[in-house]
Amino acid sequence: MLRYNDDKIFFDYLHCQQCGICEAVCSKQAISFRLLENGTHEVVIDHEKCIRCKRCVNCCPANKEEDYRTYFDGFHAKTYFLGYNTDNRIRHESSSGGVCKTIIIESLRTGIADGVYSLKRTDAYPFAEGEFYAKDNIPDYGDIPNSVYHSVLACRNINKIRKCKRLVVVGTSCQLRAMNAALKGKAEEVIRVCIFCKQQKTLDSTRFLAKIMGTDIPENLKFSTRYRGIGWPGIVRVNESELPWNRAAQIPFGRRLWTVSGCNVCGDSFGTDADADITLMDPWKIRMPNELGETLTIVHTERGEWLLEQLPSLTLERKDFEEVEPALDLKDIWRKQQLVPFFRGQNCSDKIIKAGKAEQWQRAMLTSIVETLPRMPIIFYRALCKLPDLRNKILK
Ligand SMILES: Cc1cc2nc3c(=O)[nH]c(=O)nc-3n(C[C@H](O)[C@H](O)[C@H](O)COP(=O)(O)OP(=O)(O)OC[C@H]3O[C@@H](n4cnc5c(N)ncnc54)[C@H](O)[C@@H]3O)c2cc1C
Repeated sequence: MLRYNDDKIFFDYLHCQQCGICEAVCSKQAISFRLLENGTHEVVIDHEKCIRCKRCVNCCPANKEEDYRTYFDGFHAKTYFLGYNTDNRIRHESSSGGVCKTIIIESLRTGIADGVYSLKRTDAYPFAEGEFYAKDNIPDYGDIPNSVYHSVLACRNINKIRKCKRLVVVGTSCQLRAMNAALKGKAEEVIRVCIFCKQQKTLDSTRFLAKIMGTDIPENLKFSTRYRGIGWPGIVRVNESELPWNRAAQIPFGRRLWTVSGCNVCGDSFGTDADADITLMDPWKIRMPNELGETLTIVHTERGEWLLEQLPSLTLERKDFEEVEPALDLKDIWRKQQLVPFFRGQNCSDKIIKAGKAEQWQRAMLTSIVETLPRMPIIFYRALCKLPDLRNKILK
């Protein structure tokens, strides 16, 4: 997060959501990133070059005040689908059903959109970067990464976006908020696809998984990793070792450990505060035995519904709110939202302070256990998972 104080721009790591927009909007190249050992980035400001225009501060998504008082009011009235690509191979190899990649590729192939900003795969950590796609570089399914849980600085290439009539942008809630502030005048119409996100992970989470799987991540970070894909809910692969995703997601990895610290100040997992037209997520809890994968697709606007109707390779099964409610897990998001004021350092009730401190303590405790002990049998990590989640106990 960037703040302006005393005629200077300051970087606040604890609130940084790692979107990368600040570098893209700086006209003086006064901002650069330094990769930290945990796989997140530190923003480095060259105060000599900085002209205090504050564009970086104004675009920084963490500076946006959030008000969640009415956040859950409209969920009964939204439109829900379980969606997937009609090609079983694509469906099987995508993050959860391939709706997102289908939107990207088919909206360009059909000419519905003349530009899409999303990610492309790369060979080096974090194995993805932002890319602008248009009719002269329509990606193939293999060019677009599945869900990348490491922080990607996805917005740092938004200057590649050329002027469009209809632009589709894809990103997590913080990335969409960052783009909203920076995209003015770039397109006559923007359709926003939100990748549902409760948190991005630091590299320490992958180190931990590697430890369990008996493999190493080299210091130069040239490792191969794969999250999800190959059937739903897929596998985690670090180098040649594998762990089924539904098992990996239970170990402390799934417990908000090693989260990008700025994710603690975002409670907008669905991207509705970022004006998302569509949100895409995993149908956890309602579709566990499914081998092929489906994308839980939440439509917020008529524009979003219209876009989906135009894409011939999508199958969409309409669902009622009651059917998808377990997968939405609104209670968990409510709990996260409750702690946002605590992590922002604002005034909050004794109960919230207690829950926030419990979460901090539990994170520190689990982190030090798994980092200081040698590799233990997997049963040890399973036992750790059985520990009660203190935040959830306090915020029932
Ligand atoms: C950090 C993160 C956390 C998530 N947490 C949850 C969760 O808690 N619960 C849940 O139900 N779903 C979560 N998801 C969403 C889920 O993993 C799938 O992205 C979603 O179901 C869409 O699946 P799909 O098959 O349509 O995606 P695909 O068709 O496989 O397309 C994936 C799309 O996601 C984009 N993408 C991948 N990683 C990132 C990233 N880090 N930032 C921006 N764009 C990215 C790719 O560019 C691509 O456009 C998370 C995703 C991410 C990236």
